Amino acid sequence: MVYDLIIIGAGVIGGAAARELSRYNLSILSLEKEEDVCCGISKGNTGIIHTPALVHENTKKAEYTVRANHRWEKISSELGFEFQRTGALILGFSEEDRITLEKYKETGEKNQKTFSDDSRPPVQYRIIEGAELFTKEPGLNPEVKLALHTPDAGRVMPYEYGTALWENAVANGVELKLECQVASLKREKNIPEETESTQNLLVTDSVWEVKTSKGAFLSRYIINAAGHGSVELGKSAGFPEHSVEKVKGQYIILDRKKSPKINNILFQAPAKGKSKLGKGILVTNTVYGNLLIGPDARWIEKDENAETDIESIREILSGAEKSCRSIESKYAIKTFAGIRPKPKGGDFIIEMKDGFINLCGIESPGLTSSPAIADEIIQMLKDEGLLLSKKPDFNPIRKPIVKSLLNLDMKEVIRRSELPDSDLKKLICRCEQVPLKRIMDGIERGIPVTTIDGVRRRTRAGQGSCQGGFCGDHIRPILSEKSGIPVEEMKSREEARAYPRITPADIRKIL
Ligand SMILES: Cc1cc2nc3c(=O)[nH]c(=O)nc-3n(C[C@H](O)[C@H](O)[C@H](O)COP(=O)(O)OP(=O)(O)OC[C@H]3O[C@@H](n4cnc5c(N)ncnc54)[C@H](O)[C@@H]3O)c2cc1C
Repeated sequence: MVYDLIIIGAGVIGGAAARELSRYNLSILSLEKEEDVCCGISKGNTGIIHTPALVHENTKKAEYTVRANHRWEKISSELGFEFQRTGALILGFSEEDRITLEKYKETGEKNQKTFSDDSRPPVQYRIIEGAELFTKEPGLNPEVKLALHTPDAGRVMPYEYGTALWENAVANGVELKLECQVASLKREKNIPEETESTQNLLVTDSVWEVKTSKGAFLSRYIINAAGHGSVELGKSAGFPEHSVEKVKGQYIILDRKKSPKINNILFQAPAKGKSKLGKGILVTNTVYGNLLIGPDARWIEKDENAETDIESIREILSGAEKSCRSIESKYAIKTFAGIRPKPKGGDFIIEMKDGFINLCGIESPGLTSSPAIADEIIQMLKDEGLLLSKKPDFNPIRKPIVKSLLNLDMKEVIRRSELPDSDLKKLICRCEQVPLKRIMDGIERGIPVTTIDGVRRRTRAGQGSCQGGFCGDHIRPILSEKSGIPVEEMKSREEARAYPRITPADIRKIL
């Protein structure tokens, strides 16, 4: 069979494209090398829906941020993931910073003017200071002098969004193959005569042959959304070898039950000469209430992975204290890292040749931009001749997995932890109070879940202070029964993937 489309990479960019394309009568195959969706860049990031005020003018990044930013309420209500439009404060500490903040304000206004595609009134950005600032954000460090308020910033849990996209795409007919690594791509001149396709192919038409760890597949169009893998794949399809550096960012996350409530997302005006390193150390609550601080920025060599180190953790702690008085890092429960694909030219690379869409260097604000990048992909495919007829039975709705967080007292937690194994009310994760019902819901949605990490990302089991120390042993047999993978094998797969990380105990030692 010849597919109409193959999407390589199951992160948020591939997912946004897959979901949008699943609205049409197309045969779509998605190939992902990991054992689950959202295991790459889309897993370890800040999860901010950015304001156009922080994005360079006259770039694709600015265009997509403007075009996507206002759509998140609708997308989250359709796909059942948590989205909060909290607004952001970009903090200034001196009169020099005032000039930087004025520049951001101007950039935000210009970006909206240039790229806004409807008649919505423009979002107003304002510099605030004094009592107004400290009323808006009472926990600020008194050293903060002023801030740019951008009401259009928001936040999501990036992997909750990504999983929702993929669940919805699969429910609407997209075929997803996990643990299927693409090795090479080749343009085939003539297709075999007896091949099937949902579009009328001529035997003289050219198609792509995609060689993978699970065999070869044919497709008329390819979307290369392979994150860090996309430069190599693009090269094998005949594109130039784009220069994309790797920049690691590390984070600390605090126990949600001990986290202070921060009203806004807090950025900092970059220190003089450091604008390349981004907007300082960010401080925010996640959508589920944990305090999240980070990331730093370190250029890394090719093969370095997502481990964390004490030098970065120190930098993050002192950077966050510049913004907020009382961050109690003793309540840290985890450190993690993400790696940005930084294109040398500074902007996203989105290009098309011979029915192959090549996406490279999709760094921040790639998550924010993903709905608009999906639109761009569809437009490119239409321009290239792909026929798009709407499916009458497309269903945009995906039901949430995490509907609300329980707040039971300890007595009730113990009672519900001791219910029989078959009782859906039985608590599997005590820290985050996750019942068996939610675990079953998370793993029965059309995408095979074979790891503790996959359950953690979908249900919050294991995201509390013990980080899965208790619930892991309860979840493994459930997964084993579903997937047929023996419990011992599951454990060794997890160990093989685990990176050395700075632990909460290490953090307490340096306080
Ligand atoms: C530290 C950090 C902070 C960030 N913060 C923000 C933010 O706050 N807001 C924002 O808007 N954006 C942010 N971003 C950017 C955002 O996370 C990315 O733009 C987005 O997640 C990129 O998604 P993707 O689908 O392109 O890549 P990925 O999520 O990496 O997906 C690509 C997939 O392709 C798979 N793959 C690779 N090679 C192959 C192969 N050969 N065969 C099959 N599969 C393959 C990978 O396993 C991976 O799953 C941040 C990024 C980082 C690193």
